Amino acid sequence: MISIAFSLLINTSAYGYATNFDYATTAKWSNNLNFMICIANGQGKEYEGLFLKAVDEWKSKWPHFAYTVSYASGCHINVNIVKTHSMLADHGYVGFTTLEYWQHGAITKADIILPTHKKTTVTTEVKGKTVTEEYLTPLSSTLFYRAALHEFGHALNLGHFDDNSEEPIDIMHPYPASEDKEQGISQRDIQALNWYYLGYFGQEVTIRTDKKSYEPGDTVNVIGKVGKVSSAKVAVQVYDSSKKLYRSDAIGITASGTFNYKLKVADEMGGGSYKVKVSYDNIIVDASFDVKNTSETDETLIEVRNEELPLETERTVTILDTWIVDHTGSKAKSIQPYEQVFIRSSLSSSLAERTEVTYIIQIKNLEGYTVQILSGTYDLAIGVSTFSLSWLPTEAERYDIEVFLWKSISDPIPLIPNQIDLKVVVSQ
Ligand SMILES: [Zn+2]
Repeated sequence: MISIAFSLLINTSAYGYATNFDYATTAKWSNNLNFMICIANGQGKEYEGLFLKAVDEWKSKWPHFAYTVSYASGCHINVNIVKTHSMLADHGYVGFTTLEYWQHGAITKADIILPTHKKTTVTTEVKGKTVTEEYLTPLSSTLFYRAALHEFGHALNLGHFDDNSEEPIDIMHPYPASEDKEQGISQRDIQALNWYYLGYFGQEVTIRTDKKSYEPGDTVNVIGKVGKVSSAKVAVQVYDSSKKLYRSDAIGITASGTFNYKLKVADEMGGGSYKVKVSYDNIIVDASFDVKNTSETDETLIEVRNEELPLETERTVTILDTWIVDHTGSKAKSIQPYEQVFIRSSLSSSLAERTEVTYIIQIKNLEGYTVQILSGTYDLAIGVSTFSLSWLPTEAERYDIEVFLWKSISDPIPLIPNQIDLKVVVSQ
């Protein structure tokens, strides 16, 4: 008999979706997923309620198991709700699950320990002496609930999942998210359970790029496939090396589930590591590629060329994209009157140094009348910068948005050859 222990660590936070997953053991539950759950609760009744709510959340998302609650002992899953536990508190853990199983065989039991308090250590200097004091502080109901979700995931034989860059954070990530971040059961968790106990994935999305590294002028070819076609398009986002959104597109998929996304590597893209993210059916996957900065690598070549070709002509400012952002920071899907939004542009500069610029947004109505001009002065960095201006549309109608970049309002030298036009509809 082997036992394996999983714990949830406090302290570090990491954000994102699950990029891959793992199982706790190679063994499976062989009780037809019909669990007897024993609860031993030395704390308030509300904690037991939170634990059972967590079990029910798993069941609502993955209804392939059943359970009965008992207050006896010796169940399949034994839950012990305690104020604190020496092992947990000393290591900053907020939950602990031990699985007992026959290797390559059956899981026989899962023991979950859920403390309601965590230990906080405060170190102070008193008359030249270091004094360490420990306090027990109650976990918030959100953090206790998340710990219950996480530990029950382990009891179902989920391991820890890697996770990448964005909320909501997968509940099976080894580090709990801070309370202000979204965290919960993801599509990946459900997929893992489907695969392990039912032998299939509900959905699977895979992508790859045709090469690892590209140069300006090359075309990045992203080849992908979805397991089950449920809608006509996949959403593609490309992020630059500073994790700023460089492009966002929606591309069609074939009846067999394949898709192909092509991105021309523009001169102004700048070198570094880029990331393509594809979202489909609540599954997000990503692939990385590098862009070689030829102006850096071919320095000698530029020096030679410099005599005939003034370098200034290669130094340009380009608007990569302009989009509308809602109050949550996401790309706005619809705009309502009297709802503040941000008009945001990502710009690329290959000027010799940081330059102060004036970013101007002109908003015209359908008849072509300018209804508003917004402007702001910003520092345009070398590489990619993002500028935003807030806008409060008042009328439900269609607007044309033009973006200008001037040296300043008083010195209206345009820094970009032509403005970007964006059409937006404000609707009720
Ligand atoms: Zn864990």
